[in-house]
Amino acid sequence: MGVKLQSVDELAISPNWKERMRCPRCSSPISDIHAKPSCVNYRCDYSTDGFPMVDGQPVLIDFEESVFDRTMYRRQHGSALNRDTTGRSLGSRLHRLTFGDNPVAADNCQKFIEMLKQHNPHPVVLIVGGATIGAGSHELYNDPDIEVVGSDVFSSDNTVLVADAHRLPFHDATFDGVWIQAVLEHVLEPATVATEIHRVLKSHGLVYAETPFMQQVHERAYDFSRFTRSGHRWLFRKFDEIEAGAVTGPGVALLWSIRYFSRALGAGDKFSRLATLPFFWLRYFDRFGKSRARADAAGGVYFMGRRTERAIRPGSMPLYYEGQR
Ligand SMILES: [Zn+2]
Repeated sequence: MGVKLQSVDELAISPNWKERMRCPRCSSPISDIHAKPSCVNYRCDYSTDGFPMVDGQPVLIDFEESVFDRTMYRRQHGSALNRDTTGRSLGSRLHRLTFGDNPVAADNCQKFIEMLKQHNPHPVVLIVGGATIGAGSHELYNDPDIEVVGSDVFSSDNTVLVADAHRLPFHDATFDGVWIQAVLEHVLEPATVATEIHRVLKSHGLVYAETPFMQQVHERAYDFSRFTRSGHRWLFRKFDEIEAGAVTGPGVALLWSIRYFSRALGAGDKFSRLATLPFFWLRYFDRFGKSRARADAAGGVYFMGRRTERAIRPGSMPLYYEGQR
């Protein structure tokens, strides 16, 4: 696919990296990051216990504060969220046939890259939830001027470290951009994650987030929240909005409902996918309709914004909704 993958070895040769990372518990530096990572602060539990490694990648998670357990990382890849990261399984293929491709991400990614380069010709971008390369985000990986740092709660060929987004193991102002696609529904506290994204971004840093709205439970035990377009805006209230809107529309939302309707009646995972396939044409209706009405029933929403110090006011939120065109 021509995707540029940065391995841990490449991380190792970058002298900046050790200085960029920190203990997710106490924020102290981490020693021996590529073999036996541990916190240098002798008062911290992670100075004695250290952090696990999985597939040669450090697992920089504070397990006391995470839904993920240390024992999960004794298995290959680690974590109960480990899944098809290639998109080649039958389930992934059936899903694409029915639900189609992401209609906005590739264009938004192009815009994200252009805006990143206005401030830094060689931007560093953190991908949160990057074990699977997100739909429409390939350009980030293909661009030789962009340094991509892939992270997720399990390891894959696309990650360089494992981390929990509630406590990102990086110092303040490390990244020019953070890309977080289909992740915020899976975290216990989305507001905490948004605060962490704000913290690790440089002063003019950019965020791009896509999060489901009208979509049923997926990833089983690890699915916690949904966002309206307004709710998503409020989550990123310490960012100036560059662009926001619906990812998928009411047609795709209806397809999700058909699939989960059949699933609730007893159709298993595979059969519910097959039962939804004949209704694939519903997604073509997503091209029509007014923006606000479409966003009110969107399958998911996106937000692209630039970091600021001042949050928008609560009183501005009704106008934000009314102002959608
Ligand atoms: Zn520590």
